[in-house]
Amino acid sequence: MSNLNELAATLRLPAEPLRTPMFIDGKDYAGNTGEFVTRKSPGHGVPVTATPRACVDDLNAAVASARRAFDDGRWSRLSGEQRATVLLKTARLIRDKVETLAYLETLESGKPIGQSRGEINAAAGIWEYAAGLARVVHGDSHDTLGADLFGLTVRQPIGVVGIVTPWNFPFFILSERLPFVLAAGCTAVVKPAELTSTTTLKLAALLTEAGLPDGVVNVVTGLGAVVGQALAEHMDVDMMSFTGSTPVGRSVLAAAGGNMKKVGLELGGKNPQIVFADADLDDAADAIAFGICFNAGQCCVSGSRLVVHRSVEEELVARVKAVFEKVRVGDPLDASNHVGAIVEARQFDKIRGFIDAGRRDGAQLVHGGESTSHGERFFIQPTLFRNVQPQSALAQEEIFGPVLSVTSFDTFEEAIQLANGVPYGLAASIWTRDLQGAISSFREVQAGRIWVNCTITGGPEMPIGGVKQSGIGRETGRYGVEEYTELKSVHVQLGKRPRWIA
Ligand code: NAD
Repeated sequence: MSNLNELAATLRLPAEPLRTPMFIDGKDYAGNTGEFVTRKSPGHGVPVTATPRACVDDLNAAVASARRAFDDGRWSRLSGEQRATVLLKTARLIRDKVETLAYLETLESGKPIGQSRGEINAAAGIWEYAAGLARVVHGDSHDTLGADLFGLTVRQPIGVVGIVTPWNFPFFILSERLPFVLAAGCTAVVKPAELTSTTTLKLAALLTEAGLPDGVVNVVTGLGAVVGQALAEHMDVDMMSFTGSTPVGRSVLAAAGGNMKKVGLELGGKNPQIVFADADLDDAADAIAFGICFNAGQCCVSGSRLVVHRSVEEELVARVKAVFEKVRVGDPLDASNHVGAIVEARQFDKIRGFIDAGRRDGAQLVHGGESTSHGERFFIQPTLFRNVQPQSALAQEEIFGPVLSVTSFDTFEEAIQLANGVPYGLAASIWTRDLQGAISSFREVQAGRIWVNCTITGGPEMPIGGVKQSGIGRETGRYGVEEYTELKSVHVQLGKRPRWIA
């Protein structure tokens, strides 16, 4: 058994950081700097992995490799069936490696090991789904242009795609983008978050094992401000798929202006849980607790604002608090814990700053608020604030931690106004037994993803993405593959073209 397999099987911490090189042109690539980013497990406070700190020259080598691979058609000109075969084989290899990938994911991200296993398995399912789409991408025909003209639309791969991913769901978010990029026939340069790069590098090696031609997927690691920025600016990149914070998304949009590359942005959220008076409060309470505790609240779609009808507010808050009391926070390698570590010191301090601001602004702390960073291990208890003012920082800003703020409403209009009263529009949950009320709500709520009587659930069939400052474009579903294509219209003259000058 290799060292990594053994560590994953026994869930022991590595004695020294596990080093993984970059991946360019189908081969391991050390990079030009000789420097590494060493990652300490946020759940254990010890160094666990090291990945190269790339420079712009390394990034240029990766883009050149992806450019060559796209331009010579080694992937884009394969049949959908051939592409699907590689994607399916990748899915199988991911399933074979669930234990090691989940172990690495937990070490770097701090999420509970059971959750990591679930995410890796679910990611394999996305690869399987996207494999089918490789054979489905198609255009249209237009037989309405008159007797002499026939129209076609053809979907073609957009080219070289730069993919930048965040640290909160490193493998899963990559799997919501990369298989669709590949199904479309594109090539890619991936820049994972510097805190959580290892599973992305491991996936690159699996792709080669699955038969992906060299150069089709290249992975460059290192700092976002250096290699992420250079990728977004690069004149040989045809599209950027960026997932991360709204401020960095804004800078990616600006950087993409050089060659006017297409940009897909999946950004932050401040997602409401809207609970009407007739809702099943037991169900809602459990889901609301899950929606803010899952991944320690570090999800773009975390339900961080509870917007509840005044008549049931007290009862619902009591029920959410009762669920919070049962949530176990601690060592992410202990499968009995529900919530693991906060990803790093900076994020930990930011969340605590919001908790302090909530106290200062006069919100009522109903539960939690405690945190510990002993031994560079970062944990925060689920925290619940009542009487939160709609314009306060707690209610307006993306905290990205297990902090739920409660605001109440009296009328439907007020509920919608509160739900929409933030700069974001990523996701929303609606809780009611009234079908008409649910439909009226989802018509009015500004969000890319809506859940009715559920939260943070779905499948790769459904598109994801945001409105307002939560992003541009959609990932996953058949829309997810179409995002990575260009639509070309073709006009075919039938018979002789009428003369301009007779
Ligand atoms: P971040 O914006 O700091 O970093 C995201 C990625 O961008 C990282 O890989 C980073 O290295 C890179 N980066 C940093 N500066 C860059 C630059 N100038 N140019 C190009 N790339 C750069 O975000 P984060 O802290 O890693 O993740 C948390 C944020 O991501 C939250 O705001 C969260 O809501 C958002 N997010 C959104 C979604 C979604 O689908 N909408 C999913 C997950 C996370």
